[in-house]
Amino acid sequence: MNLEKFQQSMYELIVETSTNLPKDVRRAVKAAAVRENAGTSAAMSLATITNNIQMADENISPICQDTGMPTFKVKTPVGVNQLQIKEAIYEAMIEATKNGKLRPNSVDSLTGENSGNNLGAGTPVIKFEQWEKDYIDARLILKGGGCENKNIQYSLPCELEGLGKAGRDLDGIRKCIMHSVYQAQGQGCSAGFIGVGIGGDRTTGYELAKEQLFRRVDDVNPNESLRQLEEYVMKHANELGIGTMGFGGETTLLGCKIGVINRLPASFFVSVAYNCWAFRRLGVQIDPTTGEIQEWFYQDGEEIVFDAPQQEETKSESRTFTLTAPITEEQIRELKVGDVVKISGRMYTGRDAIHKYLMDHDAPVDLNGQVIYHCGPVMLKDEQGEWHVKAAGPTTSIREEPYQGDIMKKFGIRAVIGKGGMGPKTLAALKEHGGVYLNAIGGAAQYYADCIKSVDGVDLMNFGIPEAMWHLQVEDFTAVVTMDSHGNSLHEHVDKSSLEKLSQFKEPVFS
Ligand code: SF4
Repeated sequence: MNLEKFQQSMYELIVETSTNLPKDVRRAVKAAAVRENAGTSAAMSLATITNNIQMADENISPICQDTGMPTFKVKTPVGVNQLQIKEAIYEAMIEATKNGKLRPNSVDSLTGENSGNNLGAGTPVIKFEQWEKDYIDARLILKGGGCENKNIQYSLPCELEGLGKAGRDLDGIRKCIMHSVYQAQGQGCSAGFIGVGIGGDRTTGYELAKEQLFRRVDDVNPNESLRQLEEYVMKHANELGIGTMGFGGETTLLGCKIGVINRLPASFFVSVAYNCWAFRRLGVQIDPTTGEIQEWFYQDGEEIVFDAPQQEETKSESRTFTLTAPITEEQIRELKVGDVVKISGRMYTGRDAIHKYLMDHDAPVDLNGQVIYHCGPVMLKDEQGEWHVKAAGPTTSIREEPYQGDIMKKFGIRAVIGKGGMGPKTLAALKEHGGVYLNAIGGAAQYYADCIKSVDGVDLMNFGIPEAMWHLQVEDFTAVVTMDSHGNSLHEHVDKSSLEKLSQFKEPVFS
């Protein structure tokens, strides 16, 4: 095989997967955008998402800054050297990372050190299969951490919140799947796609669930019982009212694919792999002699054109505020859940490592009245040594729950921006101290990168690019107040109302 050409083909597969959302996924997102009531926060979020998809395409930049766990599935004809394929994939990964198409995402689990090139123990995942066909089928999924953390595995029989007992039958499986959508809320950047694996052991069950994500969004399950179950879930999960980003709304789920394998008599697992709207998976057919791409998968059909984005369109009753740090307590106390905030001026990024660090160290900058953005951006340094933001959407905030309230009070931080909301400890601190939580649109990495006008500095680079504290100059960085300083949390409200709706699906449907 021409290995140089094959490596180039793998590079193209990585870049396209990271920057160009597949057409079957685009069709699902477009249908959701059409369904959503104009003027709501969910409609505004979907408009930002569709705008972001187009920007990523035009800029050939990552759709979301979290370029996920790269997982390759490669089928090769007999006689193709899989060791050479592996090496070519490694080289392509290094190049894609260097060019800012992938964020350095491979972290030593014990030391926290980032390898910097996306290679490391267990990274990337490459699964080989040999087959009788005469071409190579190579597929890639980039599944981010926010949605990966919402995966769930059930062991039947079990008791489920809102749904009661789930037995070892099709109806028990139905309850688990409905519950999996409820428990994810908006934290996996809904509206999402789920792959479900029935049976197997704990490991193969999850593998089967992830495998379902390689199915086309619009395919039809050949197993009639599973087809009916997929149809049921698609209809009723969207009645839970969780909506895009968990803001409430008509669309919570964009796809549901279910597979089944045998199990041990003593075990009955239902495993669910949750994928965000930024469902990045593509595939190619490759000539094993030339190493060239012959065909792309999931990209058939007409170009999907999204209607003109309308980020400005928000609820008629929602108010819009403009804030520039340093922000006063008085300004914060004026904000209420549902308000839209546009931030201009300085903000600082801070995620897991920074929050842990700030608990028992001084801050490298004065954070009084400042804004912290939960974000691990993709950054590139030019030849003059200047940093440029390539992708900068919010990361899941709930991971900072143990620290956030204490840090806000300790340093006088007035606003935190992230996604998915935070818990009771932070809500209490917002009330006591006079702080606000702003929900940005998860995955809208290009949209937010565009709001960042310059990078003015960086601290704590020893934590690696995603975890460092970046000093950003922003303009009209838009987010929604979802937790205010008066004890109100939209996340708490949507969780409660969706649990009530979930309990309507308690009665058996499938015998
Ligand atoms: S869209 Fe959200 S869940 Fe998906 S990779 Fe990006 S931040 Fe993570």
